[in-house]
Amino acid sequence: MDNIPQNPIADTGVRLSALGLGTVKFGRREKVKYPRPFELPDDATIRALLEMARAAGINLLDTAPAYGTAQKRIGELVGDDPEWVICGKVGEQFSGGASRYDYSAAAVSAAVEESLRELRRDALDIALIHSNGADEDIINNTAAVETLQRLKAQGKARAIGLSGKTVAGGLLALKSMDVVMCEYHLGDASQLPVLQAAAAAGKAVLIKKGLQSGHLDHANTADPVQAAHNHIFAQSAVTALVIGTINPRHLRQNIAAARRAIARAAATRPTPPPRRRPPRPQNDSRVV
Ligand code: NAP
Repeated sequence: MDNIPQNPIADTGVRLSALGLGTVKFGRREKVKYPRPFELPDDATIRALLEMARAAGINLLDTAPAYGTAQKRIGELVGDDPEWVICGKVGEQFSGGASRYDYSAAAVSAAVEESLRELRRDALDIALIHSNGADEDIINNTAAVETLQRLKAQGKARAIGLSGKTVAGGLLALKSMDVVMCEYHLGDASQLPVLQAAAAAGKAVLIKKGLQSGHLDHANTADPVQAAHNHIFAQSAVTALVIGTINPRHLRQNIAAARRAIARAAATRPTPPPRRRPPRPQNDSRVV
């Protein structure tokens, strides 16, 4: 079977597998919106998931300080293995059953330092602002963007962006950063303008909640998992789809569905016309 393909994030040098593994359920079970309660997976289960992902060509792990112990567990199990691309976040902390948001320069810098310590890395491949929903206000009126830009210049983040909730915020983020992460699935296509703007600007798009956080529509589709993948990968703007799972059977199903959806999209996409060389000026006296 072919590996899941990898896509670049513009000129950052970061290359992501088109399917990524979301890690909320590696470390947090309180105040989540999944359909069923669950136990946190043991180390052996996470190790098996990571091995299966890696064997299929998946290199992207999406995590955050707000995902309980997820970052720490990734650090312990993956360490600084450069084959894994880590997408982290800043701005949200979760403890005592509640989220707290702080987008100040001090909090953003401290979040990256703490993530690097827990992940046992020198740099985050991607650092995203973990939005509380007030995307535009965070970008316009806090130090989050300039602090991430500074951290990128210092080599502590290779690509930066926004995990946002609004179209206006996504469009604004594309003006000054490399990546947007947004919700897009069969139940909600409202972020399509962000996808289109990212494609036009040559910026990266990460899709979250592609399986509607597990609330799949079994009533109207025979294979809702395949339908979800087909819908998302039909958008050429999608750099990677991040799906959260702690179930090896589901990961195997997602890998197969992503492969089929990517092949289907490639087969239906028109091939671009060949590039023409510009004509040489008539009085060209260059010696070749
Ligand atoms: P999701 O990926 O759409 O759905 C995950 C849920 O779907 C889990 O409960 C999982 O349960 C289930 N699932 C996975 N594969 C399945 C399959 N093949 N068949 C049936 N059920 C399946 O939603 P998400 O976890 O909310 O979002 C994905 C990732 O995006 C997160 O893990 C996180 O990394 C990121 N995220 C970011 C933000 C943000 O604001 N930055 C917000 C939300 C999410 P099992 O474990 O049982 O498979």
